[in-house]
Amino acid sequence: MGGTFDPIHYGHLVTAEEAFVRFGLDKVVFIPSGNPPHKANRSVSDGSHRFIMAQMATITNPHFDVSRIEVDEDGPTYTVDTLKRLKAGEMRDAELIFITGADAILEICSWKSPRELFALCRFAAATRPGYVVSDELIKSVSAFGADRLEFFEVPALAISSTDIRLRVKEARPVRYLLPDGVISYIIKNGLYR
Ligand code: NAP
Repeated sequence: MGGTFDPIHYGHLVTAEEAFVRFGLDKVVFIPSGNPPHKANRSVSDGSHRFIMAQMATITNPHFDVSRIEVDEDGPTYTVDTLKRLKAGEMRDAELIFITGADAILEICSWKSPRELFALCRFAAATRPGYVVSDELIKSVSAFGADRLEFFEVPALAISSTDIRLRVKEARPVRYLLPDGVISYIIKNGLYR
């Protein structure tokens, strides 16, 4: 499960649990993104903060893991390279499904090496309520195999990291949008102020 997770919230956790059951997964590995090349114009919290928050949020779930594979990278990180590294190591024999938000998937045909990417994994794209999948996206993805991408709606994705960052900045409540431990971590480290 790829994402910036800045910060991780209940929408992400519900998405992961929904995907776990829906796709009959053995486990869900959260991969906080490293230096996303498409995020050059917005400051993203340090990878070590995002990794720790993801660990705190998932600690009680035995089938959730968090990987440092991207946050430990110095240069830009591309999903195709991350998946290749996973496939060359601990996940050699695994069938991979890359779970992420539908908005992130919109540009997937412009990601690095899309053909190779679709050969390495299937994609599960979580949508917020009311999201309409465009015919244009379906058409452009079909070049790589339409059955390699599936959308699924997650009502809890009404919660968003952008909204949480803004709420923290404006000292508005965030309780019940994300785990209490993560809220304490944000306050203690002065994030999003
Ligand atoms: P993003 O722009 O931060 O998020 C786009 C939208 O998707 C936001 O509404 C976001 O909501 C939602 N979202 C993101 N991750 C989610 C998740 N795991 N579950 C549910 N909703 C999610 O997206 P991003 O984090 O940059 O990219 C997502 C993944 O795609 C990352 O792993 C990234 O590395 C990968 N990616 C790769 C390339 C490439 O290889 N060239 C390019 C773009 C993205 P929240 O803000 O609430 O999370």
